[in-house]
Amino acid sequence: MTRTVEHWIEGRYTAGTGGRRAPVWNPATGAVQAEVALAGPQDVALAVAAAAKAYDSWREVSLSRRTAVMFAYRDLLHRRMDALAEVISDEHGKVLADARGEVQRGLEVVEFACGIPHLLKGGYSDQVSGGIDSFSFRQPLGVVAGITPFNFPAMVPLWMHPIAIACGNAFLLKPSERDPSAANLLAELYAEAGLPGGVFNVVHGDRVAVDAILDHPDVAAVSFVGSTPVARYVHERASAAGKRVQALGGAKNHAVVLPDADLDHAADQLVAAGYGSAGQRCMAISAVVAVGGAGDELVERLRVRAERIRLGPGRAPEAEMGPVVTREARDRIVGYVERGVAAGATAVVDGRHAVVAGHDEGFFVGPCLLDRVTPEMAVYTDEIFGPVLVVLRAETLDEAIELVNANPYGNGTAIFTSDGAAARRFQRAVTVGMIGVNVPIPVPMAYYSFGGWKASLFGDTHVHGPEGVAFYTRAKVVTSRWPHPARPADHQIHLNFPTAV
Ligand code: NAD
Repeated sequence: MTRTVEHWIEGRYTAGTGGRRAPVWNPATGAVQAEVALAGPQDVALAVAAAAKAYDSWREVSLSRRTAVMFAYRDLLHRRMDALAEVISDEHGKVLADARGEVQRGLEVVEFACGIPHLLKGGYSDQVSGGIDSFSFRQPLGVVAGITPFNFPAMVPLWMHPIAIACGNAFLLKPSERDPSAANLLAELYAEAGLPGGVFNVVHGDRVAVDAILDHPDVAAVSFVGSTPVARYVHERASAAGKRVQALGGAKNHAVVLPDADLDHAADQLVAAGYGSAGQRCMAISAVVAVGGAGDELVERLRVRAERIRLGPGRAPEAEMGPVVTREARDRIVGYVERGVAAGATAVVDGRHAVVAGHDEGFFVGPCLLDRVTPEMAVYTDEIFGPVLVVLRAETLDEAIELVNANPYGNGTAIFTSDGAAARRFQRAVTVGMIGVNVPIPVPMAYYSFGGWKASLFGDTHVHGPEGVAFYTRAKVVTSRWPHPARPADHQIHLNFPTAV
């Protein structure tokens, strides 16, 4: 019998009401390994009601008790890291070491949330006027929701819920329906850590569930991470419903390689950033801009390294790169490479027909390296989200910066150089949110915030870190006086607008 991945509402599993289901594929074998329940508006309403009820008491729980839950959660994540990595690898396809890496980066957000008492400290000003003090503090929003993509089924939700919950909110997660099981394991660990039922809920589903969340009047805020068209849609619809919203979108991350760079180092880094997780990372490098004479030597180094990558199922210890997530994703990626070659790009490494012995039906695409790509080609303009690295040429650093800035996306970018002044010019000039200097995946640590510019982010705040705390709370400022019988100013009537005395 096929296993069903159910919703997690108020601390227990439920199959939901509508009866709709979607297949969960094993990308390495191409077989269906489970079904996931798809929530309808009624299921979302039940989850929101459970969260709203839990919020009433969770918001009153002391900071030290909330912190204790986060510390326990952190320990459980540590202990269950391998189990989580296996679930991720089986449904997403990424290799186990990579899956462990994503859990580790998510766990660091939990560690950040363990410091919530410090992060929620307000300010206090004594004697802002005669006998008057002012102070500020922040309060949770209520029920907040996270809608997340397939490519980091544990880490991206972990960017959101530990901070939201530590701030005193109740959370509703709608993970990707393509790899839904990690969310349930994360929910079980919260229960084990002592989080009261209803503070963290999971509803699985597709657009129907998303719309129900966006329209629900009791959802105060929505954090979204996914592709740009959906991010734009979520931002517009949730904003129209009066919610606070942050919606992170897609990417086309450029790496600019100057001729003075250590080309071996650059090639090592770019191959890892381009083909790790089969290119299905929002911070994957997908476009290399070789400046001046760097092109030919760099492409040769990339070719040698890309050809050595070992393709295989995520659980195989020797595999470095797994399959892509679905058959449609594979066909889309292969189609892009075909169009690129037809448009005049050179396929230096061509993984379109890659096969993995014993996994003929798996969704595998080998590394693809396309040289002589020009800015109007679809392989450059579109986010392919697969193991395809394209190489463009630019004469100067300024020309490369222009290319980066003309691109509608602005998630991440990197420069490889041994010239500090050039790196500084680059980091100041690019219209991109996260920048690497000789670092290809410049993902900030949990105590900084993560986010792009332009079509990579709709809304004002980045996720996790200090901006995450700001997003999941709102501020109050209190101005207080305790009148004293002997202080005349406390007993006078002034109709003029109050000014400090
Ligand atoms: P996606 O946009 O297809 O799906 C994201 C979420 O939205 C899922 O939960 C999905 O169920 C839901 N969804 C899908 N279509 C919808 C629709 N029409 N209406 C309402 N909801 C819908 O993204 P994906 O394929 O799961 O993930 C890959 C994308 O996510 C890439 O574009 C990648 O760059 C992006 N991403 C961005 C970041 C970032 O930090 N900016 C991080 C990770 C992934």
